[in-house]
Amino acid sequence: MQELHYSRPTTVADAVVALARPDARVLAGGTDLIVQVRENRRQVAHVIDLKRIPELNAITRQADGGWRIGAAASVGRLGRDAAFAAEHHALLDSARLIGSLQIQNRASLGGNVCNAAPSADAVPLLICLGARGVVAGPGGRRTLPIVEIATGPGRSSLAAAEILVAIVVPAQTGRWAAKYLRFTPRREMDIAIAGVGVWLQLDQQSAITGAAITLASVAPTPLVAAAAQTLLVGERLSPKLIAAAAQSAADEARPISDTRGSADYRRQLVAVLTRRALEACAGELGIHGT
Ligand SMILES: Cc1cc2nc3c(=O)[nH]c(=O)nc-3n(C[C@H](O)[C@H](O)[C@H](O)COP(=O)(O)OP(=O)(O)OC[C@H]3O[C@@H](n4cnc5c(N)ncnc54)[C@H](O)[C@@H]3O)c2cc1C
Repeated sequence: MQELHYSRPTTVADAVVALARPDARVLAGGTDLIVQVRENRRQVAHVIDLKRIPELNAITRQADGGWRIGAAASVGRLGRDAAFAAEHHALLDSARLIGSLQIQNRASLGGNVCNAAPSADAVPLLICLGARGVVAGPGGRRTLPIVEIATGPGRSSLAAAEILVAIVVPAQTGRWAAKYLRFTPRREMDIAIAGVGVWLQLDQQSAITGAAITLASVAPTPLVAAAAQTLLVGERLSPKLIAAAAQSAADEARPISDTRGSADYRRQLVAVLTRRALEACAGELGIHGT
């Protein structure tokens, strides 16, 4: 185990200053970071604990109906916000796939995003919902789409002295539904061999006005299945359309073969999971017979 210096700032500004030290790294829940430090997969000299910064732990509804989730707020706390849980049950379900209840009482959505694992379970639906990250650094604040944060396994587009302050989920309008499904050999406490997040928006005549599909564990970063999305928009849900979108998503996947599954197997999983997630959304939106 490496020797670690620990600090616990109470403001974003102090955290940014502390992060300017060499080999400094922020810690939210620590459920990824501590494991990586123990296994010598990350060299860290200074750990900056974000859990005492009020802004990073706040979960608030915005005036426009969207949500601002402090980057260090735990999945457990998110689930205890009844209004958030009612509106974003699909996102919450995806976050509740993370580890056990004990892990969820530490783990944050910000950590899930910034750890940049291709298998991160809460990230596909954040991307589908159009979520943005608020980032603070020595030069001030900026926002960027969540989809732009992971740049490769364990790598993010955040500069060394930047922290993710909050995740903003925009207000969802009209008739919409979302679903994330993953496949793991074990039912719990396992990493997705493949995962699929789907978001659909319909008009009053049930034509699809918006569609988003993001894949997990089948590319170096969460992957937007853009062609599959395009196939859906403007159409009405039917078994044929769902099958075509599922096949398109499978074709767009860029999986590798490893000890957990071959690339072909992962592609097949993407097709099955996309179909099931679209069917689940259809069912929630009252479209039957798909
Ligand atoms: C037993 C076990 C089971 C798990 N199961 C799953 C699973 O099923 N699905 C899944 O997706 N994950 C799983 N995980 C991984 C982990 O729990 C999640 O990725 C979790 O969301 C990480 O959040 P955290 O707050 O603990 O992050 P931390 O460990 O605190 O941080 C993770 C990384 O992100 C950086 N970071 C954290 N917050 C910020 C910020 N605000 N700004 C900038 N950088 C930041 C840290 O420096 C670190 O590099 C599991 C972990 C364990 C130990």
